[in-house]
Amino acid sequence: MVVDKQRIVTIDGPSGGGKSTVSRALAAKLHFTYLDTGAMYRAVAFQCRQKGIDPADDHRLGALLATFCIELLPPDPGEDDVRVLIDGQEVGNQLRTPEMGMLASRVSALPLVRQTLTRLQREIGAGGRIVAEGRDTGTVVFPKAAWKFFLDAGPEVRARRRAAQLRGKGEQVDERQLLAQIIQRDRDDRERSIAPLKAAPDALSIDSTGLAVEEVVRRMYDRILATPCCGRQ
Ligand code: C5P
Repeated sequence: MVVDKQRIVTIDGPSGGGKSTVSRALAAKLHFTYLDTGAMYRAVAFQCRQKGIDPADDHRLGALLATFCIELLPPDPGEDDVRVLIDGQEVGNQLRTPEMGMLASRVSALPLVRQTLTRLQREIGAGGRIVAEGRDTGTVVFPKAAWKFFLDAGPEVRARRRAAQLRGKGEQVDERQLLAQIIQRDRDDRERSIAPLKAAPDALSIDSTGLAVEEVVRRMYDRILATPCCGRQ
């Protein structure tokens, strides 16, 4: 149904801006499904690492993507991250390291990877009622989404949040190195030629510096209630 297809929320922005926490909370409030597109890029990066594939090797990368089988399941109670299964095997926290974020950023600039994952994301979103988060969900994956947001915050704030998340998982963190990685990854994501990180022209931009998660979610929810999707293309 056309109206249902429009019932998509997109939340794009750089890493550590609070997208995942906010997207999950908003999806729960709306009774929509949460789609973490970054987890899909991390999964491709992880598979390249596991199978010793150089992402520059088109032939082997193409073979990997041709049979790429990923499932995203809701987080376990009390956990933050979606559960990711690759070829039926759960990969757990191995996707969430800063190194895997850097490798995900590298593979995400490759046309073959983007085509494959964009197609899968559109299939997942075909029925509507999803909150999709990533870098290009409002610009490329779901350009007709009814509600689009761009969530940003200063790099230091984002590095601090990411450090707290990682420490919460019991990992050792070098905050200065994390900040350098975040700045590098944002620059790469913004400057790549395909599907760069940027706000869609019709997205509402929110700077989450100094805002609690609940406040960001409240602003988004209010915007959604104020702009019903049925009249939109
Ligand atoms: O959001 P997350 O940090 O898990 O994303 C990891 C990387 O995947 C990003 O730095 C970005 O390069 C890539 N990505 C992307 N497009 C998306 C989601 C993530 O290019 N829609």
